[in-house]
Amino acid sequence: MGMHPSDTLSQRSLSSSRLPWKAKVADIIENGSWSFPQVPLLNQQLWSRINFQPNLSREHSVDWVPNSSGQFTISSAWEHLRARKPINVLHRLLWHNIHIPRHSFVLWLAAQGRLRTMDRMHYLNGEDTTCRLCARVPETHDHLFFMCRYSLQVWKFIQAKAHTRWPNLPWNSLVEWTSRRYQDTKSTNNKIGALIFAATIYYIWQERNKRIFQQLTQPANTVGEAIFQVIRDKLMCSNGISMADGTRAIWNIPWSTMPLWDDGQHH
Ligand SMILES: [Zn+2]
Repeated sequence: MGMHPSDTLSQRSLSSSRLPWKAKVADIIENGSWSFPQVPLLNQQLWSRINFQPNLSREHSVDWVPNSSGQFTISSAWEHLRARKPINVLHRLLWHNIHIPRHSFVLWLAAQGRLRTMDRMHYLNGEDTTCRLCARVPETHDHLFFMCRYSLQVWKFIQAKAHTRWPNLPWNSLVEWTSRRYQDTKSTNNKIGALIFAATIYYIWQERNKRIFQQLTQPANTVGEAIFQVIRDKLMCSNGISMADGTRAIWNIPWSTMPLWDDGQHH
């Protein structure tokens, strides 16, 4: 079994089952059938997921869930533990002083794998869960940000336009990398990096939703351009933000947003 009961149940409700903490699957099999412990309320929720009979011919084995092969390795354990950390450093990325709230909110959910992607919509059993952006593979957080070739195009567009580079990493590691790389949000360039990351996630999620709920489809470059513009607008209206010449040139921000010739007369 790939799922350990302790993933789902609290320690307290597990102890009320009176099963030993290290109970094996064999402990809940009686005469070739499941003999589930009586845990009030949570019982149904957990056991309704098991829709097969116990296989007595198969030996009891322990699967290490964080590794797709089921084999425990130090590196997979490290990755597994690392994957839980980004949330702690992520807050600077999300809530710096020129953040865009709706972007930060979607990134916050995405970083925790909590957007309602197709793989998480359990009730859609039997329905099409193919990624609507590329129409090639099942939709997951990992795929959507940024293994999907559509998302990758958006990502490449904005990176080229903003003169930045992100490494090619799985989603969790990418969140961690970005959180660490841009954590000092006193720097304008780091704020911009944080804005790009959040906006790109937000716009890809929006494009995905438009395709599903409104049957609207935009090319990757249009989405990339929208990301660029929303960040430029943000920088334009963030008074007093210090910006190097090179950064101004990239984002096409004039030195003063107040017209220098404005002496109150019409031209
Ligand atoms: Zn895709």
